[in-house]
Amino acid sequence: MAMTKQSLTEVVSKVPGPDGCPLSESGVLLGASVCDGMVKVRVRAHAGWDEGVMSRVASSVREAVARYAATEHAALVSCVTEFVGNDGNTLKAFRFGGAAASGTSPRAGHTPIPGLDDKSNPLAGVRHIIAVGAGKGGVGKSTIALNLAVGLARRGLSVGLLDADIYGPSMPTMLGLGTHDAIVHQGMLQPFFTHGVKCMTIGKLVDPDKPLIWRGPMAHGAFTQLAEQTQWGELDYLVIDLPPGTGDVSLTMAQTLSLTGAVVVCTPQKVAQDDAVRAARMFEALKVPVLGVVENMSCFVGDDGKVYDIFGRGGAKKMSERLGVPFLGEVPITMSLREHSDRGDPTANFTGTHEAGKRLGKALEELVSSCEAQVALATMKRGGQKPTLTIS
Ligand code: ADP
Repeated sequence: MAMTKQSLTEVVSKVPGPDGCPLSESGVLLGASVCDGMVKVRVRAHAGWDEGVMSRVASSVREAVARYAATEHAALVSCVTEFVGNDGNTLKAFRFGGAAASGTSPRAGHTPIPGLDDKSNPLAGVRHIIAVGAGKGGVGKSTIALNLAVGLARRGLSVGLLDADIYGPSMPTMLGLGTHDAIVHQGMLQPFFTHGVKCMTIGKLVDPDKPLIWRGPMAHGAFTQLAEQTQWGELDYLVIDLPPGTGDVSLTMAQTLSLTGAVVVCTPQKVAQDDAVRAARMFEALKVPVLGVVENMSCFVGDDGKVYDIFGRGGAKKMSERLGVPFLGEVPITMSLREHSDRGDPTANFTGTHEAGKRLGKALEELVSSCEAQVALATMKRGGQKPTLTIS
């Protein structure tokens, strides 16, 4: 038998916190996930918790998880408990077992993880980097990047979102960052933490009303600073929202970061597909594997659930077949998605209760699952880690 995310979450939610109260009741359990016997639990640390307190909580989590694994006769490869501060930064991570360990014997502290401790990689703490690109603007690239990041974070993963659309950053609005200012600590930008995601956007570092006309070296410098001088900590995923088209930022990114792959966003019309094909070809030329194509604005779903095929649904799927790359899913146009984006509440896209909202949530969950699956395959092809299977 294998552990399931649902049962794992139930088990971990009952683990007593420092005050004896179950973690779920104290509201500090952020999520639990299991991939291939590797368990990850995220807990929000209260201000007064020192290392000793966190270590005790991590041991209790590990004991509960080990008991659960034993009952299910399931393999437990590792159990990581990550403590996150109010600002979203990882304060401490405790690992029991690990890639190098064969059993489940408790071993607190840090065990090197393949791909995470490579000093030649500027983002050594990031397990997977996914770029989200599009052939042209306005197709919903930022929307898809944001919802992908939030969807992954809702599965208990630690996720970062880098808004590298340096010519038209829209993330401050879509994330609801409002008047919050970027903070620099010891020469590093501290990411914002909102909707379960660590985020950084150039939109918070420049005058929002000033056009950015950077080319070549300036675009290169802006991107590398945002990517490398942000204190991301350890992340399962970093999602990068690229500028539209095939320009300098994509080139810099491919040269400086070790990407897992790219997602191409497209709308169904023929003219949009032509641009998307160019974007996919650019990633191939840059040796970035294309994880797949997403069809955004696939159809319009009214609040009553009625579906209108405004743009001729299915075009992106055909295009992905033509390109020989996976199709990751389709996201409908809904009024709620636009409203939630404008008011900076992407979490609401996953929790809708009316017909259109439910359909949107389902489409986004399917998109997140497809991306996770393609990342696992791309990682396996690269000969890195074993594929990660999310069991839920
Ligand atoms: P891009 O990054 O490609 O320029 P954006 O993600 O900024 O595009 O989206 C442009 C506008 O369209 C935003 O106002 C966004 O809220 C809206 N939008 C994008 N996708 C959808 C959708 N599926 N349903 C409703 N509105 C959408």
